[in-house]
Amino acid sequence: MNSGFYDFYPLKQNWFYLYKKEILKKGVVIKSTGSWYRVLSSDHTIFECRIKGKLRISGIDTTNPVSVGDEIEFELEGDDKGVIKNILPRKNYIIRKSINLSKRSHILAANIDRVYLMVTLVAPQTQPGFIDRFLVSAEAYHIPVTILFNKMDLYEEEDVNVVEDFISIYENAGYDCRKISASDPKTIEFLKEEIKGNKVMFGGHSGVGKSTLINALDPALKLKTGEISIQHLSGQHTTTFAEMFELSSGGFVIDTPGIRAFGLIDFDKEDLSHYFPEMREVLHNCKFNNCQHINEPGCAVKKAVEEGKIHESRYTSYISMMNSDEEETFRKDIYK
Ligand code: GDP
Ligand code: ZN
Repeated sequence: MNSGFYDFYPLKQNWFYLYKKEILKKGVVIKSTGSWYRVLSSDHTIFECRIKGKLRISGIDTTNPVSVGDEIEFELEGDDKGVIKNILPRKNYIIRKSINLSKRSHILAANIDRVYLMVTLVAPQTQPGFIDRFLVSAEAYHIPVTILFNKMDLYEEEDVNVVEDFISIYENAGYDCRKISASDPKTIEFLKEEIKGNKVMFGGHSGVGKSTLINALDPALKLKTGEISIQHLSGQHTTTFAEMFELSSGGFVIDTPGIRAFGLIDFDKEDLSHYFPEMREVLHNCKFNNCQHINEPGCAVKKAVEEGKIHESRYTSYISMMNSDEEETFRKDIYK
């Protein structure tokens, strides 16, 4: 085989690219203060970067052009500083509408590989309605979800049965479900493998065990989480800038104060059923293609509910979200 030629040819073609690569370093934004961005370069060094002039992402009018989780290219400026030149295309991002009148939005985090929704049945009790809203938001943002049923060590047999019921509902809807105890290392070991190489978030009510779990995954983070109080994940606080922590076993945990907003995002009601994976599977069989799955004849979703293929409680959440007066146009607003 004449491999010598082919070995050489691509190199020659990419010569200019290789040259450019030398001056533009690649990295990921791990912290943002609004004017400075802490970047972890691909060779694992921290740089404090800034933006010069306008760096606009096509189509989105946001108050922050760069967010935690963004994969970027930057130019060195001194030994440990840089100027961000490019933001690589985002696979997803979560966004919060500004509370002021500007109607501009704030990107809380980008390129999220998975969100772990932590659920407990007691102290606090997580309601199916909360879970379903959270899942809808994640679907709308194109972020895969794993549901972690935490504090299993606390449950009596009947609580365990309730957990099993939840699991059958959510596995049937297509979600990965796991039973864990943040306090029991062997139940959470799989998370280290899953998070390795990824950027993930933890969501759920305050008190479900998010900080306990994150500390258990990497005890070295203990201090840090203590300082920033990862409780803020539940979002009662108005700090707007997120931060990302690297686990010693690999991968990143994004701590964003806006996670509560994540659970309550508005959506276009006409699209809502598409954010229920088990409805998405059957709705093309509805008689009317604009079927809202409420009381239309020939509705495949209602039929699936009657046949037990879609769980009653998921359908109840769907109807409740359809009937709520949450603003319908949020997702339209953010695209100019
Ligand atoms: P967060 O608000 O979601 O960050 O919740 P925390 O991590 O602060 O946990 C709230 C409380 O639940 C703490 O007292 C934890 O010790 C406790 N906790 C967390 N996970 C577990 C668990 O798996 N089992 C038990 N028994 N307690 C837990
Ligand atoms: Zn229908």
